[in-house]
Amino acid sequence: ADLTAYLKDCAEDMQFDMEKNGIRLTLELSSQDPLPVIIDREKLKRVLTNITENAQKYRDKKEGHIRVFVVERPEFVLIGVHDNGQGIPSDVLPHIFDRFYRGDPSRSTQTGGSGLGLAIAKQIVEEHGGKIWASSRYGEGTTVQFTIRKADQGERRIAT
Ligand code: ATP
Ligand code: MG
Repeated sequence: ADLTAYLKDCAEDMQFDMEKNGIRLTLELSSQDPLPVIIDREKLKRVLTNITENAQKYRDKKEGHIRVFVVERPEFVLIGVHDNGQGIPSDVLPHIFDRFYRGDPSRSTQTGGSGLGLAIAKQIVEEHGGKIWASSRYGEGTTVQFTIRKADQGERRIAT
């Protein structure tokens, strides 16, 4: 699949609902060129949805902004999702990919959820041979990043 076109489609799908909720979504591609990758479209959509859903849920009062960025490396592509939301306390951060783990219950009861979103995202990324991790500054925002494999040269001809 061509990641460039795929992400544009995904962003378009998500933009409408986000803007209704007062959140701006921007997609920062490193280039407009086709970027052949090996992905299961449905599953990668689930990864992006679970991450951006959190970015929408764990926001604070200020104008919401979600930035999806793409970095191409020789061996893989990195996709990052940055939000300017609540951020994650450093003692919580190591657990967010665990099954059924949820942060601070006081805010969790307001927002609801089962603590599975990121565990599912992790499982899918790892099935695709990638890695996923997060960094955050409490009170400032969060960035979740994951890698996916590029199609190799032989597959590249077919994929593009
Ligand atoms: P579910 O996704 O199943 O509805 P959930 O959102 O609580 O529930 P995860 O998506 O796995 O579960 O996230 C785990 C925890 O990580 C959340 O409860 C929240 O505390 C924290 N978290 C995840 N993403 C963010 C984010 N972008 N900003 C702040 N906190 C986050
Ligand atoms: Mg979630």
